[in-house]
Amino acid sequence: FFITLEGGEGAGKSTQLRAIEAWLRGRGRDVVVTREPGGTELGERIRELLLHKDGRPTADTETLLMFAARAEHVARVIRPALQAGRTVLCDRFTDATYAYQGGGRGLPRERIEILENWVQGGLRPDLTLLLDVPIAIGLKRACGRGEPDRFERESEAFFERVRSAYLQAAASEPRRIRVVTTTGTVEQTTREIARVLAEVLGG
Ligand code: C5P
Repeated sequence: FFITLEGGEGAGKSTQLRAIEAWLRGRGRDVVVTREPGGTELGERIRELLLHKDGRPTADTETLLMFAARAEHVARVIRPALQAGRTVLCDRFTDATYAYQGGGRGLPRERIEILENWVQGGLRPDLTLLLDVPIAIGLKRACGRGEPDRFERESEAFFERVRSAYLQAAASEPRRIRVVTTTGTVEQTTREIARVLAEVLGG
């Protein structure tokens, strides 16, 4: 089973990732937790290039680097784990590319689709949890953590476009992409996620 976690800045992804992992392990699943961009040695090096604060690649370059990291990740980590019957929990995946490079940076969707089909073949997440929070609240949380990477210095309009691209994706694939609003407490969000997991996976 392949689960991905998505959401904008300050939506609570890192905190909830641990809770989801615990929920899955508690039900006897053998879980592989991984992330994008990253997840392999080469992928983590590409991540460093992408998140570096100086310079700014074009949207094409950024997308190609994301998918270079993803190709490595899919071939070396995700597919082997799924084939071994393990549950893969991935912090961001291709929905993030549609949201950030597509929605945020205006890259035509067709270009992302070509790379998605090339790199993933038919592989898609079985379940995607989209943590959603209004931009003002999310950015306040992220700034409170003092996160300096260049993605967090984008304009508010950029993040609004990212958020609406995510929500649009969820509206067009409501069975796979489940939206969880994270304006409440951490515990409320964790409970809501557990409810969705139990509904989808049983337990
Ligand atoms: O998941 P995390 O917040 O650690 O991601 C690191 C950064 O990479 C985020 O700030 C996000 O904005 C950015 N990102 C991106 N495009 C992607 C995936 C992540 O711009 N496809």
